[in-house]
Amino acid sequence: MKKKRFYVLGNVSIGFLAVFLLLFIERVGILYKGSGDNVTLLPADNVVHMKELSDNKKCLLISDDDNDTSALVTPEYEQILTDMRVAYDLFDISKYSTDSQNFDQYLQKYETAIIATNDYDVFGENILSLTNWVKNGGRLLIGITPVRSESFDLICSKLGIMEMDDSFITVDDFVSDENYMLGAGKTYKIDDPYESSLAVQLASSATVFAHTSDNAPLVWSQIYGTGKFVVCNFSYVSKAYRGIYSSAYTLLEDIFVYPVINASVFYLDDFPSPTPSGDGKYIKRDYGMGIAQFYSAVWWPKVLSLGDKHNIPFTGLIIETYEDDTGEDLPTNKSTADYYYYGNMLLNKGGEIGYHGYNHQPLCGPDYVYQEDLGYKVWESYEAMYNSLDELTKFSTGIFSNTELSVYVPPSDVLSKEGRDLIGEEFPNIKTIASIYFEGPDAYSQEFEVSGDGIVETPRIVSSCIIDDYMKLAAFSELNFHFVASHFMHPDDLLDEDRGAAIGWEQLSKNLDEYMTWIDDSAPDIRHLTGSGMAGAVQRYVNVMPDAYVSDSQLTIETDGLIDEAYYFIRVSEGELVDVSGGKLTKLNETLYLLKAQNDTVTITRK
Ligand SMILES: [Zn+2]
Repeated sequence: MKKKRFYVLGNVSIGFLAVFLLLFIERVGILYKGSGDNVTLLPADNVVHMKELSDNKKCLLISDDDNDTSALVTPEYEQILTDMRVAYDLFDISKYSTDSQNFDQYLQKYETAIIATNDYDVFGENILSLTNWVKNGGRLLIGITPVRSESFDLICSKLGIMEMDDSFITVDDFVSDENYMLGAGKTYKIDDPYESSLAVQLASSATVFAHTSDNAPLVWSQIYGTGKFVVCNFSYVSKAYRGIYSSAYTLLEDIFVYPVINASVFYLDDFPSPTPSGDGKYIKRDYGMGIAQFYSAVWWPKVLSLGDKHNIPFTGLIIETYEDDTGEDLPTNKSTADYYYYGNMLLNKGGEIGYHGYNHQPLCGPDYVYQEDLGYKVWESYEAMYNSLDELTKFSTGIFSNTELSVYVPPSDVLSKEGRDLIGEEFPNIKTIASIYFEGPDAYSQEFEVSGDGIVETPRIVSSCIIDDYMKLAAFSELNFHFVASHFMHPDDLLDEDRGAAIGWEQLSKNLDEYMTWIDDSAPDIRHLTGSGMAGAVQRYVNVMPDAYVSDSQLTIETDGLIDEAYYFIRVSEGELVDVSGGKLTKLNETLYLLKAQNDTVTITRK
C-alpha cells in the first residue's frame, strides 16, 4: 500500500517537473521551429480555373451503362482523369451499334483509351478494332479485371496472357514494384478480400509492376506493335484505391506528367478544448493519474516530440465548450488558461489553430434529420448556428490575436448543406474546410478542390492511432494519386474504447510514430504543411492546366494557370530525365520524378 502511494506521488512530481520544464523551455523560446514549408493561402480570386481540361481530348474512356461494375468504376476514372488533367471523351459502348470500320475511324483521334467495364462481349467485333488501334500506336488501359468471355479470350494473348484459369483468385494484398509506386517495398493488406483477379501466367515479354505477396500479377504492361497495353487486374473499386488505378494509367505513355498537391498534414481535433476533469479508466490503469495531468505531462509532450522527430507542424482545432447548448444565447467560456497554454505552445512550434465548434454539435439546423444517431442535437435556428460560429470566432481570435485562423473542421465530419452555405456566406474568415475524404452517413465528404464560393475543400484521409489495413492502403493510394497525406486524431482517443483507449497510449503513440515514419520513408520530399498550407497547395493545384510535349531529346511542360509554383509527378517509362530549366526536379524512384515548376515553361532533357 505504502509503496503504491509513493509510486503515485512519484508520478505526480514527474508530471509537475515535465510541465515545469515545458513551460520553461517554451518561455525561453528554444522550441520555436517553423517547418520551413510554408504555403500561403491566397485570396479566392487568384483561383480562376477549377481542374479545367484542355479541348484537345486525347483519352477515350469506354464505359458500359448496362453493366453494374462499369457504373462503379467509370465515375472513379472520371475523377482520376480530371484530377490528373487528362482531357477525355466518355463513350458508352452499349449504345454503339455501327460497324467496326466506323469504330476504327473513331479511335484514330485518341492517344489513350481505358476500358472501364469487365464484360467484353459488349464490344463484339469492335474489340479487334481496339487491339488494332493499339498495334498501330494506341495505348490501352484494361481498367478493371475482365471476366472471361469469348471476346476477352480472343485478345488475351495480345495482353501478354499465356494461360488463364476459369476462376478468379482472392486478392488479399498489394505489393508494388520498388520502382513503381511510392511506399513500395511493403505489403498492403486488403480489408475484406474476395475472389477478384484473373489467375494468369504471363509471357516473359510482359512487365509486372504490382502483384500479390504470392506473386499473382495485378498490374502489368505489354508492348504490342508500336502501342502498349497496361492491364489493371485489380477489382476493388472505391475512393480508397484510386491511386492504384491512377498509377496504372501513368504507365501508358513513354512520359506522363500530372499535377499533384504535395502536402502532408496532421490535425489535432478538439485541441485546445476544455480538459475533462476526473479520471479515464485506461489512463488511470497505465499512468496512475487523472486526465488533466495525463494530457499535460504525458500526451502533449509525446505529441510534441513526435512532431519534432518527423518535422510536423500540427493544426489544432478549437472547441470552446462541451456543453451541448444549441439555442441562440450561448455563454462565453471564461476559463481560458488551458487555451493559452496549449495553443501558444502549438503556435510556437510552427503549428496553426483553426475552428472546430463552439461546442461539438454539428452545424445542422432545426429541419435536419441525422441518418445515424451519434447523440447529436440540431440547432434551434439558423440564427443559433450563426451565433455559435460567431461566438467561437470571437473567443478564438480573442485568445490568439496574433495569428490568423482560417481552417474549419466540422465536428465528427458532419456538416449540413445549410451549415455549409452559412460558412461560405457569413464567415469570410473561414477559407478552408477540412472534413473527410470517405463517404459515410451524414458525412461532409469532399474531393480536393475549390468550391464555387471560394472555400478550399481539403479532406482528411486517415485518423486515430489505430491505423488499420484499410487506412494504410488508402494512405498509400493517396500518396501516389495526389501526393498527399492527411491525418487527424483527438486527445480524447485515450478515453474512447472504439478509438483504442484500452490499447493504451504507449502502444497507440508507437502506431502513430510508425505511420509518421512510413510517410518519411515513402515520401521524404513531401512538404509538411499546416491546414492553411494544405489549402494554399490545393488552390495552386486546381488552377494549373499543363500541356506536355515530348520529343526524343526533350520534355517541355507548358503550364497555363501557374500562380507562383506548382508540383507535378512525371512517370518516365522510357529513358531518363536529366537537366531541367524553369523548375526543380527530384528523382523519387527509377521511373517517378517530382517536378517543382516555377516558370510557365519548363524544359527537361531526356537521356
Ligand atoms: Zn471533434
